[in-house]
Amino acid sequence: MNEKISLIAQRISEGDENVVFTGAGISTESGIPDYRSKGGIWDKFRPVYFDEFMSSKNSRIEYWRRKAELYHDLMKAKPNSAHRSLVRLYEMGLLEAVITQNIDGLHQESGLPDEKVVELHGNTRRVRCMSCGKIISIHEAQNRIEAGDLAPECGCGGYLKSDTVSFGQSMPEDEVQKAKELSQNCDFFLVVGSTLLVQPAALMPYYAKQSGAFLAIINLSETPYDEMCDVLIRGKAGEVLTEIVNEIRGLI
Ligand code: NAD
Repeated sequence: MNEKISLIAQRISEGDENVVFTGAGISTESGIPDYRSKGGIWDKFRPVYFDEFMSSKNSRIEYWRRKAELYHDLMKAKPNSAHRSLVRLYEMGLLEAVITQNIDGLHQESGLPDEKVVELHGNTRRVRCMSCGKIISIHEAQNRIEAGDLAPECGCGGYLKSDTVSFGQSMPEDEVQKAKELSQNCDFFLVVGSTLLVQPAALMPYYAKQSGAFLAIINLSETPYDEMCDVLIRGKAGEVLTEIVNEIRGLI
């Protein structure tokens, strides 16, 4: 384990473009269950599909009922030592960008600037009008729901929806393109806390490896990339990233 940490630390300190790709596993230490954990808030219900949301008021009411139920837990979650370690890398000038599948906004909350975070699946702290594109905060939507407006609409009459990618909804093209370019142009690519099963996000480590980047993975369970990566650490994101950053401090 120590040798692997040293190797990753050395690669990061030497890398011109270091990209980190994160999944739900980086936020479990903040108290947000990952996708596949049993009994967690995320697998209680069948998801509301995008076409159901757009075509049925009852589906929109159900969608917002679930969002409102998750709201207080999500707002309570704070960045953990894994998020903070990535901020340390950024402050040392050693982080080009974070590509994330997470929708919890904890990378920005930990101090990474917006422009350094590519959100492939959106951000649950924003709410978007499906007609005019206007953005409001999740707090405003929550206040309206708690005041009895069970399927809130925009002033233009459009449906308000969490600015996250629902099942059946198209991916944000600009973010996918930006993530692809970052993956293809980096020389070091680190996956943290993802099963790498959700597409097209899971193509990013493939693009990086194909383009000659060094590929490292920190994850508690198996991924389809375990055989092809250059270093694999089965460990907790918070502990491992803290050790890596401490090691880098001794190198630079
Ligand atoms: P996933 O749930 O499929 O996989 C998470 C991985 O992280 C698992 O392999 C698990 O073993 C590992 N893991 C859990 N805790 C860890 C820790 N402390 N340290 C290291 N590894 C740890 O997650 P995914 O691959 O990101 O796919 C889930 C999808 O669901 C994504 O599309 C995401 O948008 C969404 N989601 C987001 C959040 C969030 O925003 N926090 C939470 C749940 C689901």
